[in-house]
Amino acid sequence: MWDELPFLERLQRNRSDLYDASWTCPSCSLSAKENWNHLCSCPAYTKDFQGLNIATHSNIIEAIKCHAPKAHLTPTWKRDLAALSCWELLNTSPTPNFSFDLLLRGFIPLNLVNYIKTLRIASTTVTAIIAESVTATQLIFRKTIWHTRCEQMVAFEKNMGIDACTKKSNAFTYLIDHIHNKVQVQELLHLLSPVSRIGSLGT
Ligand SMILES: [Zn+2]
Repeated sequence: MWDELPFLERLQRNRSDLYDASWTCPSCSLSAKENWNHLCSCPAYTKDFQGLNIATHSNIIEAIKCHAPKAHLTPTWKRDLAALSCWELLNTSPTPNFSFDLLLRGFIPLNLVNYIKTLRIASTTVTAIIAESVTATQLIFRKTIWHTRCEQMVAFEKNMGIDACTKKSNAFTYLIDHIHNKVQVQELLHLLSPVSRIGSLGT
């Protein structure tokens, strides 16, 4: 699902007839390609991502209290939980690190699992705690950041003269052109193939 999100960069690649390659993020004034990495660092959503980060952290604490009421959540334990790399908004360190955007996309960091396990909670319960919290985070993301971003995108498209009708009416022509170009390339490759060349020499 995350790889399918219709970011401008993806639209520029798939519908170059409608989306100019020079267009940049419709939500901010930075001259940046709009894709997942940019969204996570886009200044227009910095506060929303920070809020989402805090909400996820709180959700995990609340889910632990719900699923494992006997777990001893000390201030030190909570502080060390907050220090895990999975809360960093984007991986900025030179070494590969598990950052919050991966957690948001549903990847579960092993260090988070192992850290919750230190509370002597069964593995299946730890999985349920994290899954429940991440699902809630994804829902908040869709209703806040992604919803706002889509509104920005619709306004941007309107500004550029792109609407639902344009997308549909141009889609068929674009597809035909695309197929036509592909056929030409295939014909060229066939003419250059060894079998084709032998055939040509024999005639
Ligand atoms: Zn931006």
